[in-house]
Amino acid sequence: MERIYLDHSATTRVHPEVREAMLPFLGEVFGNPSSIHWFGQEARQAVEGAREKVAGLVGARPEEIVFTSGGTESDNWALFGPAEAESQSHRPDGKRNHLVTSQIEHHAILHPAEILEKRGYQVTYLGVDRFGIVDPEALAETLTSRTFLVSIMMANNEVGTIQPVAEIAEKLRGKNIVLHTDAVQAMGKIPVDLRKLPVDLLSISAHKFYGPKGIGLLFIRKGTKMPHLIHGGSQELNLRSGTENVAGIVGLAKALEISARDFEANSLRLRRLQKRLEEGLKQKIEDISFNGHPEKRIPGLTNVSFSYIEGEAILLNLDLRGIAASSGSACTSRSFDPSHVLKAMGVSPELARGSIRFSLGRENTEEEVDLVLEALPGIIQKLREMSPIYPGKKK
Ligand SMILES: *Cc1c(COP(=O)(O)O)cnc(C)c1O
Repeated sequence: MERIYLDHSATTRVHPEVREAMLPFLGEVFGNPSSIHWFGQEARQAVEGAREKVAGLVGARPEEIVFTSGGTESDNWALFGPAEAESQSHRPDGKRNHLVTSQIEHHAILHPAEILEKRGYQVTYLGVDRFGIVDPEALAETLTSRTFLVSIMMANNEVGTIQPVAEIAEKLRGKNIVLHTDAVQAMGKIPVDLRKLPVDLLSISAHKFYGPKGIGLLFIRKGTKMPHLIHGGSQELNLRSGTENVAGIVGLAKALEISARDFEANSLRLRRLQKRLEEGLKQKIEDISFNGHPEKRIPGLTNVSFSYIEGEAILLNLDLRGIAASSGSACTSRSFDPSHVLKAMGVSPELARGSIRFSLGRENTEEEVDLVLEALPGIIQKLREMSPIYPGKKK
């Protein structure tokens, strides 16, 4: 059976050029970058070369790039780090204990925020409009003299909506509040230039843009107070100790380089495929609605609700036909709670449960989209006919 992968927001296949670039580091180039001898120095050069390359591609300085184990680690650090820094500060007016985030963040942000709440911090979870957008005005109104951190994602992983991070940064200007953005879904799909975007912290993860799993980074703008994350041998600017994931770091840099090189062509292709998919769905299936902003959305992500039926059932039926999609975020696909993102956007729990996400990638073709459009109407009709709440086929 031909298999069709439409779940690129969960993870992507490593780009052949990335694999090529990584291979020497799984073989002959095996030194420990901290070693003084030739083997070590060869590995050190690879790590620092990758750091410089990455910095150049996102408009940062090399010493502002700290490699981590991925998006989840970067996000956790971006919340716990500033909280710890604040608890160590000696402000004349007392310690600040308020942070602002949104209801539609990834759980790598929401769960650390909940832990901070249990530790006595106050957290504002901003709502969003029906397209999934945080209102910078509303955000500004929640800021107090006790706010030390704002974390708003750059693009949402379930519906793809792009957030007005630059406008949010504008609201924070001169306020001495750390601004973090989770750019894991945005990287490679919308331009990220840290010379123009005044965020202090930014998370990315390689496996979301055709790099390897288990490697990411946190950008830490010069001057931002960040306590050490892991203590030990003083690697990663003494912020995150542990022998570097050399092959992963090289792979991340290569993947980022390729995503910049192929950016225009990829975006165009993805938008074209997405349009084909969405127009086809509209044409062939009734009682559907699309979630996310019609334009302010990362290319290739389509989140669609089918009335009267369950997303899980659709996914299982698609899987039987070799088509891989998702019910929103991969991390919640084992739970039957309706998506927190769709809920925040005001989608009813019934409709949210009938929603699935297609996320297209560089290898998808028009033929594949057409195969989905052939398979899906029958699946939806079959499931609706079994559904006790389906009022019947419209004339
Ligand atoms: C995938 C994802 C993460 C987690 O990244 P990992 O590298 O898989 O830990 C965080 N935030 C968003 C928005 C994501 O899509």
